[in-house]
Amino acid sequence: MRKICILLAAALFFSAAALSGCAAEGERSLYRIEAAYEDGELRAVLTLSYANATGQPQQVLPLLLYANAYREGAKNPSVSPSFRAAAYYAGESFGGVEISSVSPCAGWRVGGEDENVLYVELGEPVPDGGRAEIAVAYTLRLPAADHRTGVTHGGTVNLGNFYPVLCVWEDGGFRECAYAGNGDPFYSDCADYEVTFTADAACTVAASGALQRRTVAGGRATHVFSLQNARDFAIVFGPSLRTVSAESGGVRVAYCYEDDPAPQETLALLCEALGYFSHTFGGYPYETYTAVQTGFCHGGMEYPALVMLSDALAGQGLAYTAVHETAHQWWYAAVGSDQCTAAWMDEGLAEYSAALFFEAHPAYGIERETLLHNARTAYNAFCTVWQQVFGAADTSMDRPLSAYGEYEYAAIAYAKGLLLFDTLENALGRAAFLRGLRGYFRAFCGGIAAPADLAAAWHDPAARDTVYSFVEGRAVI
Ligand SMILES: [Zn+2]
Repeated sequence: MRKICILLAAALFFSAAALSGCAAEGERSLYRIEAAYEDGELRAVLTLSYANATGQPQQVLPLLLYANAYREGAKNPSVSPSFRAAAYYAGESFGGVEISSVSPCAGWRVGGEDENVLYVELGEPVPDGGRAEIAVAYTLRLPAADHRTGVTHGGTVNLGNFYPVLCVWEDGGFRECAYAGNGDPFYSDCADYEVTFTADAACTVAASGALQRRTVAGGRATHVFSLQNARDFAIVFGPSLRTVSAESGGVRVAYCYEDDPAPQETLALLCEALGYFSHTFGGYPYETYTAVQTGFCHGGMEYPALVMLSDALAGQGLAYTAVHETAHQWWYAAVGSDQCTAAWMDEGLAEYSAALFFEAHPAYGIERETLLHNARTAYNAFCTVWQQVFGAADTSMDRPLSAYGEYEYAAIAYAKGLLLFDTLENALGRAAFLRGLRGYFRAFCGGIAAPADLAAAWHDPAARDTVYSFVEGRAVI
């Protein structure tokens, strides 16, 4: 997160001052989800039509149960220690996933490093290029928490990571990404979504994807959403949300808010950022874009076509976060990367993109030079402290999230990430630098890029060496 960490990024700002290409429709997996919410519980059935593109038959499908990180006794809790007090506003609270049934299959079990994986053994192997369909019935219990998955302090409900997600096939095996309190430990392939969601009819429902229809019966409203070629799907809903919307470049942009004295201004900023990034990097790939103000202990959180913005933000903090999260629609949602080991790729680019936006839009009063100055200050302070305390600072950037402390993570993924792309732009010139980024977006939109793919984006050995000098911790900053 500016990812989680937009708050950390906002804090920096306000303090001192490989797989490529898209799978075609029909070759992608399809998540059909029917879910109903009531009194802190989501009862759901995921029908997954799995498209096997691994190059070999598969008998066992592993699906990540991210929400199990909210259960009592989790080895890798979803909220890091320093944010627990802020997230659990009413004291300790737990959630988790209970699987009721899986069918058809030869068997299933919940396992993995931290009960974070549902293994489904198919009755017979699904051949390469073939499809298998399974239905998973489950209950998701939500904690009282201002976090990605939780009933927030204001009554709005955040449904991030609310369904089992197929692991990414990589290097001859499925990657089982364990949850981490740091960063955004999410890594998934693009798929298609058809989501039917039922809740109290008094609630406003914001979701990834376009609303196809809404029907009301017995005080409950059922919404049907669709989304194509996306790597995740999230919902935020509640009775206190109000909505303003506009069309921007053919995209329906909505801003759902609980308490914002100037919602039209926030909506205008979202439209401006969406238009600027579309023009600068390549067209926004979805029909809709929704930002939701909600209870969230960090600054913001990105999902395809939907972002959460903390209701604790206002003024320039809200503006910065909104732009940073919008940039993630290009760097994370469209162009995927392994956020569990290379968080600098999407976070660094989101920070750089925000700096570029505010440089081009001075009326917001956020100066690029100030952002860069703060990033240098934060990074150098981290190096100094680590050298004094530990005798050395590891400044490498390709590391699992579990290898970082929070302060270290912000200094490396955000601050050093921004400095990396600023350094590249200065060396190449803005036109050549942006040309390379546009090519990177075109090549990996809907796919997953490895660090080597990003390093090769400029077809320039010197640029590639610069990337590696930063990533390997050799660069002198
Ligand atoms: Zn971010």
